[in-house]
Amino acid sequence: MGKTAVITGAGRGIGAAIAKRLAKDGFDIAVNELTEGSGAQTVEECKALGVKAAAYAADVSDYAQCEEMVKKIKEDFGTIDALVNNAGITRDGLLLRMTEENYDSVIRINQKSVFNMTKFVGAVMLRQKSGSIVNLASVAGLYGNPGQMNYSASKGAVIAMTKTSAKELGSRGIRVNAVAPGFIQTPMTDKLTDEQKNAILAQIAMKRYGQPEEIANVVAFLLSDDASYVTGQTIEISGGLSM
Ligand code: NAD
Repeated sequence: MGKTAVITGAGRGIGAAIAKRLAKDGFDIAVNELTEGSGAQTVEECKALGVKAAAYAADVSDYAQCEEMVKKIKEDFGTIDALVNNAGITRDGLLLRMTEENYDSVIRINQKSVFNMTKFVGAVMLRQKSGSIVNLASVAGLYGNPGQMNYSASKGAVIAMTKTSAKELGSRGIRVNAVAPGFIQTPMTDKLTDEQKNAILAQIAMKRYGQPEEIANVVAFLLSDDASYVTGQTIEISGGLSM
């Protein structure tokens, strides 16, 4: 295929599922992870699917590290055709108990990372006059969620950034969309209490949690030519959490 996809935070969870799905579709894969070695398993699994893959350790909330990483990926792969801004964290707590540090770190990692990566990869795509970007938002960014003032703020911002970058880059053939997952079974949600999990389940029309692959399928569609006239949109993938 000769096309390259960059996926941030792709060492596990939804990011790893997206990397493997895009590898199946024939993309060469640049796996970003926070620490050296934590992207290795995803790289091996992508290579086993017959494509080129490599890992890049960088903190996506750090502007200079993103600039350096994108430069290296461009040198190694030649083009960057798809970007998935997936890396994210939660630091939940009710408003009056939430620390400033937990507020700031979630905004930095979930929100500023999207600015950093879209800016540097966007510059590459602008020169190519083609490319497609998908941002991981959340139902918390659409509807809010108690205990997630920081997280819902960051994901609401990601939805607004998706629209702004779609408007800025659209005339140059670059599409930008977002997905808003509901409750997906990953290490991020494993840490919720049974009480919290059951309360969420009660609100889901399909009465089950989502799997990372069910997010990856929609991301792959949005990145593909099948979605060639779709930009600036946020697709909720929540089993009918809210309608
Ligand atoms: P996860 O915690 O399982 O994986 C996230 C990955 O991001 C980890 O491998 C982590 O090392 C990496 N990461 C964290 N900070 C990073 C940084 N600064 N730089 C580079 N990598 C970093 O989470 P997940 O459930 O797979 O979530 C993936 C995305 O989907 C996140 O943006 C999350 O907010 C979003 N999301 C998840 C759910 C869900 O139910 N799991 C729901 C809605 C949205």
